[in-house]
Formats: sequence, C-alpha cells, structure tokens
Amino acid sequence: MEVLKNYINGEWVKSSSKESIEVVNPASQALLAKVPYGSSTAIDVTTACETAKIAQKEWSKVPVMKRVQVLYLLKSLFETNIEDIAKTITDESGKTKDESFGEIQRAIENIEVACGTPILMAGDVIEDIASGIDEMMIRQPLGVTACITPFNFPSMIVFWFLPYAIATGNAFIVKPSEKVPLTMMKIFSLIDQLDLPKGLVSMVHGGKETVDSILEHPTIKAISFVGSSPVARYIYSKGTANGKRVQAQGGAKNPVIVLPDTDIEMSTKIIADSVYGCAGQRCLAASTIVTVGDENRNLKDALYETVKSRNVGYGWDKGVSMGPVITSESKNRITDLIELGISEGATVLLDGRKTEVSNYEKGNFLSPTILENVNLNKKLIKTEIFGPVMSLISMKTIEEAIAFVNSGQYGNMACLFTSNGATARKFRNEADAGNIGINIGVAAPMAQFPFSGWKDSFFGDLHGQGKHAIEFFTQTKVIIERWPNIWSRKF
Ligand code: NAD
Repeated sequence: MEVLKNYINGEWVKSSSKESIEVVNPASQALLAKVPYGSSTAIDVTTACETAKIAQKEWSKVPVMKRVQVLYLLKSLFETNIEDIAKTITDESGKTKDESFGEIQRAIENIEVACGTPILMAGDVIEDIASGIDEMMIRQPLGVTACITPFNFPSMIVFWFLPYAIATGNAFIVKPSEKVPLTMMKIFSLIDQLDLPKGLVSMVHGGKETVDSILEHPTIKAISFVGSSPVARYIYSKGTANGKRVQAQGGAKNPVIVLPDTDIEMSTKIIADSVYGCAGQRCLAASTIVTVGDENRNLKDALYETVKSRNVGYGWDKGVSMGPVITSESKNRITDLIELGISEGATVLLDGRKTEVSNYEKGNFLSPTILENVNLNKKLIKTEIFGPVMSLISMKTIEEAIAFVNSGQYGNMACLFTSNGATARKFRNEADAGNIGINIGVAAPMAQFPFSGWKDSFFGDLHGQGKHAIEFFTQTKVIIERWPNIWSRKF
C-alpha cells in the first residue's frame, strides 16, 4: 500500500520520510492507509514553510472581500461531498454516521462565520484625537501559521482555525492526527479546487517529530493546538519560548450536576448522550454525574434503562448508536481505569467491558459503563477517561457540588440540570469552567463564540472560532497621522 502524500505548494507530494505507520479502521481493524512518520518529516515542514511564505506575501495583498470568496466555494464543496467525508470519518475514527455528519456541520458553520471576516477584522479610527491628528488601528495577518489536531474530530477542529487564518490573510499548514489522516486527505482534495496561491494552505503528515519541527521553524508565527493536556502544555511552553503566538487546548474531566427539581424525563437522554456520544471520546463529554439531594434513585434508574441497550457497532451500519474507541491501546487504557476505580471502592452498576459485535470481532468495542460510589479522594474521579464510562456520585447541596466542580484540574465544561433560574444563575457565575451548560449535555459553543476552556484545558489567551480566532490570526497596528489643514493657510 502506498504511503499517503503530503499537500505542499499546491501539489500532492511524497514525504521525505521513509518511515510510516498504519491507519486502521477501529471497528474492523482493516488497514486503511500508511501515513508518513519520523524525523525526516521535518524536511517536509521546511518545504511547506518556504512555499507558504511566498504564497502569503501575495495573498495578503488580495482584498479581504476577495479572500472570503474562496470560503463560499469551500462551503458548497463541503456540502456536495458531505457523505463521502462523513464515511471517511466513520471509517477511520469509529464515529456513527450521525456523529460524522454532525461534526462536518460544525466545520461548515465555522466557514460561514469566517465569511464575515471583512466586518470582523475591521479596525478603529478616531479623527481629531488631537488637533489635526487622526489615529487608527488596523489588523494585519501574522504570516505563516499552523495547526496540530487530535484524532477525535478529524474534520471539525481544523476549521476552528483554517477559515479564519486564510480569510485574515495568513498562510496555513495543517498537521492532522496520524491516527485519522484520511479525512483531511479528502478535505484537501476540495481545497485543491480553490483559487488560492500555490503553497498558501498545506498539509504535512507525521507525529511528534513533525510537531517539534513546527515548534522550531522560525517561519511559523502562530500555532493552534488541540489534544491532551500534557502535550498542550508542552506545545504552549516550547512554542511561546520560540517567540510564537500559541493557543493550546487540552484535555478535560467534565462534571454534570443534576438538582432534585430537574425534569428527569427530559434530561436523561441528554445526559446519556453527553457521556456516551462519540463513545465518550469528546473533550466535552460528561464524565462525572453528580446528583444533589438525598434521592437520586429516579435518575439512576432512568440512566440505566436508557443506556443499557445502546447499540454498539460499526458506525455506518444502520441502527448503531455507539462506535468503537480509537485503538486497542485506548480500549485497554479505559478498562484499566475501570479496574482502578473498582480497586478504589467503586461499584459497577453497568459493565461494558465485555462487548462483542458480530462481524466485527476484532473491533475496539466497549459498551456503556456506569460506576457508583466512586471515591472522591482517589485517582479515577480526577482522571480523564476519554471513553464510555460514567461515574455517578451524589452530594448534599449545590454549594458542595460547585466546590467539587471547582476543585478539578480541568475547566473545559460544567453543566447543571435544574428548573430553577436563580440556581442556574448562581452556577453559571460560580463554576470554574470555560463552557457552561444549563440543561445542556454538551456545551459546545457555536462558531460565533470562542471554544473556551479554563485551567489545564487551555493554555493561551485567545481561543478558536469567531472573533477570538480573528484576533489570534491578526496583529494590530496603530497609525497616528498629522495632516495640517493646508486649506486654511493663506497662499
Ligand atoms: P494527543 O495529545 O495524543 O495528540 C494530539 C496531536 O499532538 C496529534 O496531532 C499528535 O501527533 C501530536 N502529539 C502527540 N504526542 C505528542 C508529543 N509528545 N509531542 C508533540 N506532539 C504530539 O491527543 P489525542 O489522543 O489525539 O486526542 C485526545 C485528547 O485531545 C483528549 O485529551 C481530549 O480531551 C483532547 N481534546 C481537547 C479538545 C478541546 O477543545 N479542549 C478537543 C478535542 C480533543
């Protein structure tokens, strides 16, 4: 099988690296592709940077109204090819058909918002800030920028950044996750149809060594990263030490608080979908469900009934509502964490560890697991599981629950279920998390809003999406002009 090509200088080219790793379908283990890997991918990064630098000079002179025209075309290409891209997402990441379509829709929303760049990047002018003096602030592109992305959203995450980067006049290099490179191959075949300067948008495959060369290359002015917290912290510290602007989103451990006044019928499916959607491999997946008050029986029973028969399988098959986890290592890591929880005192209400799917005997399948009595002072309650596992705990008061939320290492999302507006208001003001949901299971911001994140879930200042992305990909320039009024002079 041929190793995947990079897309550099507007062409599909072989990697300089002779090393490669395999990409497999997590449901069937069928070999899908081989992707370039290893230290020689640094040469590919250098080539991409050289051509990007030239292309960006030309592109930055194209008026912004013209620059966004390519985004309108890209949106329509996405829509025409949505089924093909969705199938690729399912095949390489394991998502269900609906989940794959859903994430592409989120990518398209970002393209739509970035079409507003002519307004979003507008500057400020104050005339006569002093006598005969006008002052203005304009936004200019940074130059060559890059993103490094995780496996769990093979299409969407690149689009938190790419449309904004190019609309504001930058060049952009994508390093997709080596676990799911095929979706970006499809998307770059659409990008190839756009009327862009050669080299403006490139894709370089690889792993850690490729990332290190991005961190070190002097041409790259800004890096957008999404992935696990230890890597996010590393990217942020190394990238900023090398003088780059960096936004680095990390992992999560998301709590959902359920108050006694919650409409259980309405909330159960929403909470279950938050925990088990995308097989729990979502940075906004609920992981710990905290019921407040003495009585949690109703929710517990309802959750159990809702999730026990979730249909696990290959995501493109009809009726499947949960796919496999990404790799066998991931499956082992998740089962090890369940065992850790049990050894720390948790009891198993629903055990999803032994799951067999006919015709997909080798798949990385787990079914929904519910753990009760999880020890608040031990490791599991603090560890990102990134799999279909719910920890169900109870607390006496909302204050205790908020203190629990705020004691966590991460701050990606916190949600509350209630029918009381005043309590909802208290929660949204006091909970230490960048994305808050009230009667929402997955508080994923629409493209108009920044994809926020606090504490170890984010390193940097400006987030992806919307106006934050416009600011991230531009630098401000302030101009002060003195124009003496020559018309008042006597000639
Ligand atoms: P990961 O950190 O293993 O990999 C992410 C990217 O970093 C990949 O492109 C990979 O090639 C690169 N990489 C991996 N190890 C590296 C290293 N040591 N040095 C340099 N680069 C390295 O993450 P993943 O397993 O692909 O994705 C899952 C993680 O991403 C979870 O922790 C999840 O919470 C997080 N995530 C966060 C968000 C968010 O918005 N906060 C969104 C999606 C996923």
